Amino acid sequence: MSGYAPGSVFILGVNLGLGYTGRLETVKSNQQTIHSAITMNRQNVDRAFKIVPPALMLIALALFAPFSCLGQTGQTFKKHDWNRPRPPVVDPGTASTQEQPGKPPSDATVLFDGKDLGQWGAMDGGPTRWIIKDGVMECVAGSGIIRTLQSFGDCQLHVEYAAPLPPRGKSQGRGNSGVFLMGIYELQVLDNYDNPTYADGYDAAIYGQYPPLVNACRPPGQWQAYDVIFTRPRFDDKGQVVSPARITLLHNGVLVQNNVALLGNTPYMLRPQYRLHADKLPLALQDHGNPVRYRNIWVRELGSDALQKEFSFSTQTLDRLVGTYVVNPRLTVVIARKGDQLSMRLISPGGDTEFPLLAESTTKFFLKDVDSTVTFQVNDQGVAESLDYYMGGDTSHGKKAK
Ligand code: MG
Repeated sequence: MSGYAPGSVFILGVNLGLGYTGRLETVKSNQQTIHSAITMNRQNVDRAFKIVPPALMLIALALFAPFSCLGQTGQTFKKHDWNRPRPPVVDPGTASTQEQPGKPPSDATVLFDGKDLGQWGAMDGGPTRWIIKDGVMECVAGSGIIRTLQSFGDCQLHVEYAAPLPPRGKSQGRGNSGVFLMGIYELQVLDNYDNPTYADGYDAAIYGQYPPLVNACRPPGQWQAYDVIFTRPRFDDKGQVVSPARITLLHNGVLVQNNVALLGNTPYMLRPQYRLHADKLPLALQDHGNPVRYRNIWVRELGSDALQKEFSFSTQTLDRLVGTYVVNPRLTVVIARKGDQLSMRLISPGGDTEFPLLAESTTKFFLKDVDSTVTFQVNDQGVAESLDYYMGGDTSHGKKAK
C-alpha cells in the first residue's frame, strides 16, 4: 500500500468475496514431520541397526518406507520405480534482456506479452485505463488498481517492471506500484535505487512485514524481474488459518524472500490480519500514482490449483446470464447473481437447492465439489437464451423463460 489510498486492499478483498476474520495458528505440517524422519543421519541409522533386533527393524522400515517414497501426488512408489509417472516436458523458454523480453515456459499462462490487455480489467472486471506503449503496459495515475480476469492460488509468477526515468519524488513516492498476490498480499514495487525508505516498504518487501534480504534494485528505467513462488493460505471450515501464505522471491535473480510465512494481509499502518477467502483470486497490480511500466508477465499454477481454470468477470457480464431456465416440467434452473458470483438454484418436486457457480469462461461455469457444469448459449449481445446443465454424466437442455 505504501502510504496511499489506505484500505483499498481491504476493499479489493471485499469485492472478491472476503468476509471472515481468521486467526493465525502455527501448525506443524505432515511434510515437516516426514522431512525430519527421512533426514535421520547415517550414524543414527547404523546405531539403530546395532541395538534393535533385525525383525523389529524390518517392521520399522516397512512403516517408514511409504514415507520415504511419497510422490508429489501423494502416491507411494518403490525406489527407482520404472512405472512412476515421469515429469511432463516443458520448454523453459528464454531469459529476458534489457532490450527484449524473454519467452515464457511453454506451460505458462501468459498474462501480458506486449500486445493487449485482454487478460486484465479494472477492479470491477470492466476495461482498465492503463495503457500499452511500445509493447509495454504502463500505469496511468488515478486509473486505479488493475487485476487479472483469471484467478490464481498456489503459483509461480514472473513479472518484469521498470521504474520511471527520470526518477521523481523520494521514499515511498518514487516509482511506487505493487504486485498483489490474490489481490491481498503485496510485494512492494518501488524505485529504491539510491532512494532510502522504511525497511519493510522497500522494493521486493512483503509490504509492512518482511524487508528484502538485500536491495537488488537496478537503476530507474531499467527492466527488473520478480520471480515468485507463492503458496496460498489454507483455512479450516471455521475460517481459522491452518497454514499461512508463503512467499519465496527472487529479485533480478537474487534471493530476497526465503519461504517467509505471511502474517496476514499487507495494509498501510495497520496490523496484518487474515480473513477467510476463496482458494483462487485475481492477481492485481497497484496504481500508486507513478507511471511504472510492466512487461512479460506470466504465471504457472501449481499443485491441485492447476487442475481447473477459474475466472472472475464483471457484474455486467454475469448479469447477462441471469434468468430462469426450464429444463422440463420437473426441473427448473434459476441463475442469480450474488455480489461478483453467480449461483444456481435447482427447483424440482424433490427439493430446492442452491449452489455457488465458479466461472471457467464467460459462458461455462462449474461447481467446486460436484461433477456439474452449466454452459450458456448466448446471443450477439452476450445475453443467455438457453443453457446445458450437466451433472454426473447426464446433460439436459433448458430454455430461458420469457
Ligand atoms: Mg506499493
